[in-house]
Amino acid sequence: MISGVVGDMLSKEKSCGSSLLKDSLTGVMSRSNSKKIERHDTIRVSGIGGWCPRMFALARFHDIELTDTVKPPLSWIFSIGSAYHYQMQNELLPKLGDIFQGWWLGLDGLFAGDKVKDKPGLERLWRSKPVCDYDLSYHEMEFMCDGITGHTDGVLVWPDKTEILELKTISSYGFDSVNPMLGGTPKIEHIWQASLYAYFAGLEHFRLVYIRKGDGKWPSDIAEHECVLDKDVVDKLLTLGRECIRVIRMDEVTETDIPVKMCDSKTCTRAKRCGVKKLCFA
Ligand code: SF4
Repeated sequence: MISGVVGDMLSKEKSCGSSLLKDSLTGVMSRSNSKKIERHDTIRVSGIGGWCPRMFALARFHDIELTDTVKPPLSWIFSIGSAYHYQMQNELLPKLGDIFQGWWLGLDGLFAGDKVKDKPGLERLWRSKPVCDYDLSYHEMEFMCDGITGHTDGVLVWPDKTEILELKTISSYGFDSVNPMLGGTPKIEHIWQASLYAYFAGLEHFRLVYIRKGDGKWPSDIAEHECVLDKDVVDKLLTLGRECIRVIRMDEVTETDIPVKMCDSKTCTRAKRCGVKKLCFA
Protein backbone atom coordinates (compact mmCIF):
# COMPACT_ATOMS: atom_id res chain seq x y z
CA MET A 1 0.00 0.00 0.00
CA ILE A 2 2.69 2.44 1.10
CA SER A 3 4.86 1.51 -1.83
CA GLY A 4 1.89 2.23 -4.06
CA VAL A 5 1.52 5.77 -2.60
CA VAL A 6 5.26 6.47 -2.94
CA GLY A 7 5.12 5.11 -6.44
CA ASP A 8 2.27 7.51 -7.23
CA MET A 9 4.24 10.44 -5.79
CA LEU A 10 7.32 9.55 -7.79
CA SER A 11 5.38 9.19 -10.99
CA LYS A 12 3.72 12.58 -10.33
CA GLU A 13 7.14 14.18 -9.81
CA LYS A 14 8.30 12.63 -13.03
CA SER A 15 5.25 13.59 -15.02
CA CYS A 16 5.27 17.25 -13.89
CA GLY A 17 8.69 17.69 -15.53
CA SER A 18 10.63 18.69 -12.40
CA SER A 19 14.06 20.16 -13.18
CA LEU A 20 15.34 20.17 -9.61
CA LEU A 21 18.96 19.43 -10.57
CA LYS A 22 19.01 21.90 -13.44
CA ASP A 23 17.49 24.65 -11.28
CA SER A 24 19.95 23.92 -8.47
CA LEU A 25 22.91 24.03 -10.82
CA THR A 26 21.65 27.25 -12.38
CA GLY A 27 21.70 28.79 -8.89
CA VAL A 28 25.18 27.47 -8.19
CA MET A 29 26.54 28.67 -11.51
CA SER A 30 25.18 32.20 -11.23
CA ARG A 31 28.02 34.24 -9.74
CA SER A 32 28.25 37.91 -9.03
CA ASN A 33 31.38 39.17 -7.29
CA SER A 34 31.34 42.75 -6.11
CA LYS A 35 34.61 44.00 -4.79
CA LYS A 36 35.77 47.26 -3.34
CA ILE A 37 39.32 48.14 -4.36
CA GLU A 38 41.67 47.75 -1.39
CA ARG A 39 45.12 49.35 -1.31
CA HIS A 40 46.83 45.96 -0.92
CA ASP A 41 45.04 44.44 -3.94
CA THR A 42 46.98 42.83 -6.76
CA ILE A 43 45.99 42.58 -10.42
CA ARG A 44 45.87 39.29 -12.30
CA VAL A 45 47.55 38.61 -15.60
CA SER A 46 44.54 36.52 -16.67
CA GLY A 47 42.50 39.75 -16.64
CA ILE A 48 45.01 41.68 -18.70
CA GLY A 49 42.44 42.57 -21.36
CA GLY A 50 40.63 44.67 -18.76
CA TRP A 51 43.58 46.43 -17.13
CA CYS A 52 42.83 50.14 -16.97
CA PRO A 53 44.25 52.66 -14.43
CA ARG A 54 41.25 54.94 -15.04
CA MET A 55 38.86 52.14 -14.03
CA PHE A 56 40.63 51.67 -10.68
CA ALA A 57 40.89 55.43 -10.13
CA LEU A 58 37.18 56.01 -10.85
CA ALA A 59 36.18 53.12 -8.59
CA ARG A 60 38.29 54.52 -5.77
CA PHE A 61 37.29 58.16 -6.32
CA HIS A 62 33.56 57.33 -6.28
CA ASP A 63 34.05 54.67 -3.61
CA ILE A 64 32.16 52.03 -5.56
CA GLU A 65 32.64 48.31 -5.94
CA LEU A 66 33.69 46.70 -9.20
CA THR A 67 31.18 44.01 -10.05
CA ASP A 68 31.98 40.93 -12.03
CA THR A 69 28.81 39.04 -12.95
CA VAL A 70 29.06 35.62 -14.57
CA LYS A 71 25.72 34.27 -15.75
CA PRO A 72 25.06 30.48 -15.96
CA PRO A 73 25.68 30.10 -19.72
CA LEU A 74 29.13 31.68 -19.41
CA SER A 75 29.82 29.91 -16.12
CA TRP A 76 29.05 26.62 -17.88
CA ILE A 77 31.50 27.48 -20.66
CA PHE A 78 34.16 28.28 -18.01
CA SER A 79 33.46 24.93 -16.30
CA ILE A 80 33.98 23.03 -19.55
CA GLY A 81 37.22 24.96 -20.11
CA SER A 82 38.42 24.07 -16.59
CA ALA A 83 37.66 20.40 -17.24
CA TYR A 84 39.80 20.45 -20.41
CA HIS A 85 42.62 22.14 -18.49
CA TYR A 86 42.45 19.57 -15.72
CA GLN A 87 42.47 16.71 -18.20
CA MET A 88 45.43 18.10 -20.11
CA GLN A 89 47.51 18.94 -17.01
CA ASN A 90 46.78 15.81 -15.00
CA GLU A 91 46.23 13.11 -17.59
CA LEU A 92 47.62 13.88 -21.04
CA LEU A 93 50.60 16.23 -20.72
CA PRO A 94 52.32 14.22 -17.91
CA LYS A 95 52.50 11.36 -20.45
CA LEU A 96 55.14 13.44 -22.25
CA GLY A 97 57.45 12.62 -19.32
CA ASP A 98 60.11 15.22 -18.51
CA ILE A 99 58.93 17.52 -21.31
CA PHE A 100 55.94 18.75 -19.29
CA GLN A 101 57.03 20.47 -16.09
CA GLY A 102 55.64 22.68 -13.36
CA TRP A 103 54.80 22.31 -9.69
CA TRP A 104 53.16 19.20 -8.22
CA LEU A 105 50.97 18.70 -5.19
CA GLY A 106 50.99 15.57 -3.07
CA LEU A 107 50.31 14.35 0.44
CA ASP A 108 53.66 15.77 1.60
CA GLY A 109 52.96 19.22 0.21
CA LEU A 110 54.30 21.00 -2.84
CA PHE A 111 57.04 19.62 -5.07
CA ALA A 112 58.70 22.53 -6.86
CA GLY A 113 62.12 23.15 -8.36
CA ASP A 114 65.02 25.02 -6.74
CA LYS A 115 64.67 28.51 -5.32
CA VAL A 116 65.68 31.18 -7.80
CA LYS A 117 66.73 34.81 -7.57
CA ASP A 118 67.26 35.63 -11.24
CA LYS A 119 63.61 35.37 -12.38
CA PRO A 120 61.55 38.58 -12.14
CA GLY A 121 58.40 36.98 -10.73
CA LEU A 122 59.14 33.42 -9.72
CA GLU A 123 60.42 32.07 -6.41
CA ARG A 124 60.89 28.44 -7.34
CA LEU A 125 61.71 26.75 -10.62
CA TRP A 126 59.59 24.22 -12.45
CA ARG A 127 60.39 20.52 -12.30
CA SER A 128 59.32 17.23 -13.88
CA LYS A 129 56.70 15.11 -12.13
CA PRO A 130 58.31 13.33 -9.18
CA VAL A 131 58.02 9.56 -8.95
CA CYS A 132 55.92 8.80 -5.88
CA ASP A 133 54.04 5.93 -4.23
CA TYR A 134 50.82 7.87 -4.71
CA ASP A 135 49.61 10.08 -7.53
CA LEU A 136 50.36 13.78 -7.57
CA SER A 137 48.20 16.50 -9.01
CA TYR A 138 49.53 19.29 -11.17
CA HIS A 139 49.87 22.67 -9.45
CA GLU A 140 50.24 25.77 -11.61
CA MET A 141 53.37 27.85 -10.95
CA GLU A 142 52.51 31.16 -9.33
CA PHE A 143 54.05 34.49 -10.25
CA MET A 144 54.20 37.75 -8.32
CA CYS A 145 55.94 40.88 -9.58
CA ASP A 146 55.27 44.50 -8.53
CA GLY A 147 51.69 43.70 -7.50
CA ILE A 148 50.98 41.72 -10.67
CA THR A 149 50.08 38.06 -10.10
CA GLY A 150 49.45 35.09 -12.32
CA HIS A 151 49.80 31.37 -12.82
CA THR A 152 50.77 29.53 -15.93
CA ASP A 153 49.48 26.29 -17.43
CA GLY A 154 52.93 24.71 -17.61
CA VAL A 155 56.46 24.72 -18.94
CA LEU A 156 57.57 22.61 -21.90
CA VAL A 157 61.22 21.57 -21.73
CA TRP A 158 62.33 20.44 -25.21
CA PRO A 159 65.93 19.39 -26.00
CA ASP A 160 66.60 22.74 -27.72
CA LYS A 161 64.35 25.20 -25.90
CA THR A 162 62.17 25.78 -22.87
CA GLU A 163 58.84 27.52 -23.29
CA ILE A 164 55.79 28.63 -21.35
CA LEU A 165 52.65 26.69 -22.27
CA GLU A 166 49.35 28.51 -22.32
CA LEU A 167 46.24 26.43 -23.03
CA LYS A 168 43.04 27.99 -24.26
CA THR A 169 39.74 26.32 -25.00
CA ILE A 170 37.70 27.85 -27.76
CA SER A 171 34.32 27.29 -29.39
CA SER A 172 34.00 25.67 -32.80
CA TYR A 173 32.84 29.06 -34.04
CA GLY A 174 36.01 30.84 -32.84
CA PHE A 175 38.49 28.08 -33.68
CA ASP A 176 38.99 29.02 -37.35
CA SER A 177 40.16 32.50 -36.40
CA VAL A 178 43.09 31.05 -34.38
CA ASN A 179 43.83 28.10 -36.65
CA PRO A 180 47.17 28.69 -38.46
CA MET A 181 46.11 26.18 -41.16
CA LEU A 182 43.47 28.74 -42.16
CA GLY A 183 45.70 31.77 -41.64
CA GLY A 184 44.38 32.32 -38.10
CA THR A 185 46.41 34.11 -35.43
CA PRO A 186 46.35 33.98 -31.62
CA LYS A 187 44.14 36.45 -29.78
CA ILE A 188 46.10 39.51 -28.73
CA GLU A 189 45.25 39.28 -25.02
CA HIS A 190 46.46 35.66 -24.98
CA ILE A 191 49.78 36.80 -26.45
CA TRP A 192 50.00 39.49 -23.74
CA GLN A 193 49.18 36.99 -21.01
CA ALA A 194 51.71 34.38 -22.11
CA SER A 195 54.34 37.09 -22.76
CA LEU A 196 54.18 38.18 -19.13
CA TYR A 197 54.38 34.59 -17.89
CA ALA A 198 57.45 34.00 -20.06
CA TYR A 199 59.01 37.22 -18.80
CA PHE A 200 58.31 36.37 -15.14
CA ALA A 201 59.85 32.93 -15.66
CA GLY A 202 62.90 34.41 -17.41
CA LEU A 203 62.09 32.57 -20.68
CA GLU A 204 62.23 33.74 -24.29
CA HIS A 205 59.59 31.47 -25.79
CA PHE A 206 55.96 30.60 -25.27
CA ARG A 207 53.48 28.30 -26.98
CA LEU A 208 49.79 29.11 -27.27
CA VAL A 209 47.63 26.04 -27.74
CA TYR A 210 43.95 26.34 -28.61
CA ILE A 211 41.70 23.34 -28.06
CA ARG A 212 38.37 23.33 -29.82
CA LYS A 213 35.51 22.36 -27.57
CA GLY A 214 32.67 20.41 -29.08
CA ASP A 215 32.68 17.99 -31.95
CA GLY A 216 36.17 18.50 -33.41
CA LYS A 217 38.16 15.38 -34.22
CA TRP A 218 41.69 14.80 -33.00
CA PRO A 219 44.15 16.13 -34.09
CA SER A 220 42.37 18.77 -36.16
CA ASP A 221 40.95 20.41 -33.04
CA ILE A 222 44.31 21.64 -31.73
CA ALA A 223 45.90 24.85 -33.02
CA GLU A 224 49.42 25.76 -31.88
CA HIS A 225 51.44 28.94 -32.15
CA GLU A 226 55.12 29.05 -31.25
CA CYS A 227 55.98 32.59 -30.19
CA VAL A 228 59.12 34.49 -29.27
CA LEU A 229 58.99 37.05 -26.50
CA ASP A 230 58.88 40.66 -27.65
CA LYS A 231 60.58 42.74 -24.95
CA ASP A 232 58.91 45.98 -26.15
CA VAL A 233 55.47 44.41 -25.66
CA VAL A 234 56.47 43.25 -22.18
CA ASP A 235 57.73 46.73 -21.27
CA LYS A 236 54.43 48.30 -22.35
CA LEU A 237 52.38 45.73 -20.43
CA LEU A 238 54.50 46.17 -17.30
CA THR A 239 54.15 49.96 -17.55
CA LEU A 240 50.37 49.59 -17.80
CA GLY A 241 50.25 47.09 -14.93
CA ARG A 242 52.43 49.26 -12.68
CA GLU A 243 50.23 52.27 -13.43
CA CYS A 244 47.17 50.26 -12.31
CA ILE A 245 49.00 49.26 -9.13
CA ARG A 246 50.15 52.87 -8.50
CA VAL A 247 46.52 54.03 -8.58
CA ILE A 248 45.39 51.15 -6.35
CA ARG A 249 48.10 51.93 -3.77
CA MET A 250 47.46 55.72 -3.56
CA ASP A 251 46.44 57.02 -0.12
CA GLU A 252 43.62 58.96 -1.69
CA VAL A 253 42.47 59.45 -5.28
CA THR A 254 41.44 62.99 -6.22
CA GLU A 255 39.75 64.11 -9.43
CA THR A 256 43.05 65.28 -10.90
CA ASP A 257 44.56 61.81 -10.32
CA ILE A 258 42.07 60.13 -12.68
CA PRO A 259 43.94 59.04 -15.83
CA VAL A 260 42.69 59.55 -19.37
CA LYS A 261 40.46 57.02 -21.14
CA MET A 262 41.92 53.93 -22.75
CA CYS A 263 38.72 53.06 -24.64
CA ASP A 264 37.70 54.82 -27.82
CA SER A 265 34.04 53.91 -27.46
CA LYS A 266 31.55 52.39 -25.02
CA THR A 267 31.26 49.38 -27.28
CA CYS A 268 34.91 48.33 -27.43
CA THR A 269 35.75 44.98 -25.85
CA ARG A 270 37.48 46.52 -22.82
CA ALA A 271 34.61 48.95 -22.12
CA LYS A 272 31.97 46.22 -22.43
CA ARG A 273 33.52 44.46 -19.43
CA CYS A 274 34.19 47.62 -17.43
CA GLY A 275 32.26 48.17 -14.19
CA VAL A 276 32.60 52.00 -14.33
CA LYS A 277 31.88 52.54 -18.03
CA LYS A 278 28.96 54.90 -17.36
CA LEU A 279 31.05 57.10 -15.08
CA CYS A 280 33.95 57.01 -17.53
CA PHE A 281 31.86 58.22 -20.47
CA ALA A 282 29.59 60.55 -18.42
S1 SF4 B 1 35.39 52.38 -20.05
FE1 SF4 B 1 37.44 51.86 -20.73
S2 SF4 B 1 38.68 53.69 -20.39
FE2 SF4 B 1 36.81 53.91 -19.24
S3 SF4 B 1 37.37 53.20 -17.20
FE3 SF4 B 1 36.46 51.49 -18.29
S4 SF4 B 1 38.14 50.38 -19.20
FE4 SF4 B 1 38.90 52.41 -18.61
